[in-house]
Amino acid sequence: MRLFSDYHLHPQGHRLQPYSQKLLQPWADHARKIGLRDIALTDHDRYHHSVDFNEIERLRAANPDLKIRAGIELDNDPVHSEDGRRWVEKHWDRLDFVLGSVHFLRGDWAFDHAGEEAEFARRNIDEVYADYYERIRAMARSGLVDCLAHLDLVKIFGFRPTKNLGELLDAVLGEIRDANLAMELSTAGWRKPVGELYPSDEIIRARQRKKFRSLPRQMDIRTYNRGKISSD
Ligand SMILES: [Zn+2]
Ligand SMILES: [Zn+2]
Repeated sequence: MRLFSDYHLHPQGHRLQPYSQKLLQPWADHARKIGLRDIALTDHDRYHHSVDFNEIERLRAANPDLKIRAGIELDNDPVHSEDGRRWVEKHWDRLDFVLGSVHFLRGDWAFDHAGEEAEFARRNIDEVYADYYERIRAMARSGLVDCLAHLDLVKIFGFRPTKNLGELLDAVLGEIRDANLAMELSTAGWRKPVGELYPSDEIIRARQRKKFRSLPRQMDIRTYNRGKISSD
């Protein structure tokens, strides 16, 4: 099957660049060129000040052949994400898609930046994994995301836990199932030292074994989730 969508795009390129047609149109052009029909703009929440829903509307009008979704990647940045969460709540109705991710671990450590192998080598890897998945669970429970991004990003540099994580992963996947969240398949891991898809085949298979909860009739998962959130 040909890939037709990409819901993890960072048009601002990890710095503040106000949304404009000049910034966004090349993303639509490239999507079309490689055969994508459905994309979500999901800059990190720390750059939300530059996201402009009117510019996204303009982009949609100029590219009627593409489905263009307004989104954000909400992570757990210790400095910015509190503001990011408020912004997501405020703009919930205009956001089609919210990715949830964990990029910071104990001690405000941005663990996935280049060069952080040294810090991995210093730390207790089992504790790093436990801390990571605890934060993933908190994100899954937040009620503010539709999908979890790069679920096992913690493996990025190839450091593996010494303990069997079966039980922990089972709890994580149960949480994701109970919250009816989607799980991103991210090829980014292929270009990182680990050289592996996020998440691993093992996690994908374990997720497939967990039954989905059945939804009320005639309701799609997103309507269901969002209805649940607004009534909480
Ligand atoms: Zn991202
Ligand atoms: Zn990310």
